[in-house]
Order: sequence, then C-alpha cells, then structure tokens
Amino acid sequence: MPIFFDTHAHLDYPDYAPDLPEVVARAQAAGITKIISIGTSLDGSERAIRLAEKFQNVYAAVGWHPTEAEKAPSDLRPALREFARHPKVVAIGETGLDYHHLPNGTPVSRPAIKGDATKHAGLETGAPATAADNERYKQKQADIFQQQLEVAAEFGLNCVIHQRTAFDDTIAQMKPFIGKTRGVFHCFGETVARMKQVFEIGSLVSFTGIVTFKNAQNVRDCVTAAPLDKFMLETDCPYLAPVPYRGKRCEPAYVKEISEMVAQVKDCPLETLSAATCRMALKFFPKLNG
Ligand SMILES: [Zn+2]
Repeated sequence: MPIFFDTHAHLDYPDYAPDLPEVVARAQAAGITKIISIGTSLDGSERAIRLAEKFQNVYAAVGWHPTEAEKAPSDLRPALREFARHPKVVAIGETGLDYHHLPNGTPVSRPAIKGDATKHAGLETGAPATAADNERYKQKQADIFQQQLEVAAEFGLNCVIHQRTAFDDTIAQMKPFIGKTRGVFHCFGETVARMKQVFEIGSLVSFTGIVTFKNAQNVRDCVTAAPLDKFMLETDCPYLAPVPYRGKRCEPAYVKEISEMVAQVKDCPLETLSAATCRMALKFFPKLNG
C-alpha cells in the first residue's frame, strides 16, 4: 500500500474529542503513517504537543494563526522557543497573513459591519471600524508573523504558512528570511504564476481535498504545473473533506482520496507520488524522521 503523510491537521480541535484514537487508527489503516497537528494559538500548540506525546505517528507544529492575531500576547517568542525544543515539534505555524476579513469590512464591496467584523478583529464595539483600525490589525498580524519567522530561523525549523488575500505582503515579509527558514504555503489555491513566486523564494506548497472539488480547476492546474519535489499533501482537517466526504468532518485518513486525485491529475503512479511527497516532507520537516 502506498504511504502518505497528512502534513496539516488540527487534531486538537474539539471536533475530535469524542473519537480521536479511532481517527488516528483509521489514518494508520489507510496508509497515512505520519500526521502533523498544527497549533493556531499557544494553548492549541501545547495541545498539539500533548497529542504528539500520546500518539507515536503524530507530530506538532507550534504557532499563532493570523486571524487570531488580536488575541496574541505582544511577544510570542519566549513560549515558542520553549515549545520548539520539543523533539516532536517539527515546524513553526500556522502563521502568515490574512486580510480577508479586515475590521472595516473588506473586500471593498462589503459595507462596514459593526457587529461581526469588528468583533472578529477583537476591537471594541460601538464606533465603526476605520481604515486606521485596518492598518492596526494588519500591523499586529505582521508583528506576530515576524516573531514566528525569527523563532523558526533560530531553531532551523521551517514554517507552515496561511495566506489569504495577502499574497504579496506574505512573500515580501518572507524574503529577508531566504536561507534561514522556508515556508509551506498550505491549502494552496492561487494561480500557477503565484505558485512559481513561492518556489522562487525557496518555499513549497501543499494541496488539500479542494483538489477533488468540481469548481477547483485552478488548484488542479497548480497540481499539474508543480514539480514532484515542490509540494506535499494535507487535509486541513476538520475542514475541507474531499469528495465523496465533502461537507462532512474531515480526517487524516482522507489523504488517501486526495492522493488518488493528485496522482490522476499528474498522470503518475500512486507509488511515485507516495515516494516524492514523503521524501519532500521528511526533507522539509527534518524532525519528522524522529
Ligand atoms: Zn490549518
């Protein structure tokens, strides 16, 4: 049976509280032999580490998600350094930039909503959010992204990058770290041209179950264009279950369905895809070998 890894799962989410041992066992049975559980806050990162200690085939990434930036402490570095020393912490993240829901309501076609959008950004309710609030929110994201890039570089770890509607700024912020740390642009759903920009800074991409969605031809075009040594596979579970599970809770075992679609799109044997993506992951996350 061809072996695959799930390089991006959120096993610490409450979705798995009822049956996590079964979820992990099903992955193993499906040939998904390693899973990286990704932290999105300090508490979540600590939970990911505990899971890595409990399950032999689970590893952890530690970081703070950009959409939660306003809740982040001013300096994440001391806690992340502590975590990064753990033998099963294989990466920093997920980190990056996300401008999809700015405080005063973007995309620009969307009017400013006092309740939802301002609350999301952790701002005080009352006054409508302004362009200055947007800038403050972006700056906070950039600050914690920078801290995470720094810790990654210090520890010789790579980063798990979340990017939405902020592609150019994400690339620009990573450029000074070329040669010090690299990123995997997870859940890649941009254009082939942008994928090439990712490769140019030494980073990689990874593909989720979206590749099986009917309306995701741009993702399949990226799969076609991506060299076998430039991408990995992931679920981003509990989100984005591939067809035929679309809309249901996703889990690491479904990398099997994702790998089958990717092999079909690339017109290559599953064994070839297995060897290439596992080799890539072991190289990109060296502590996965442990
Ligand atoms: Zn994620």
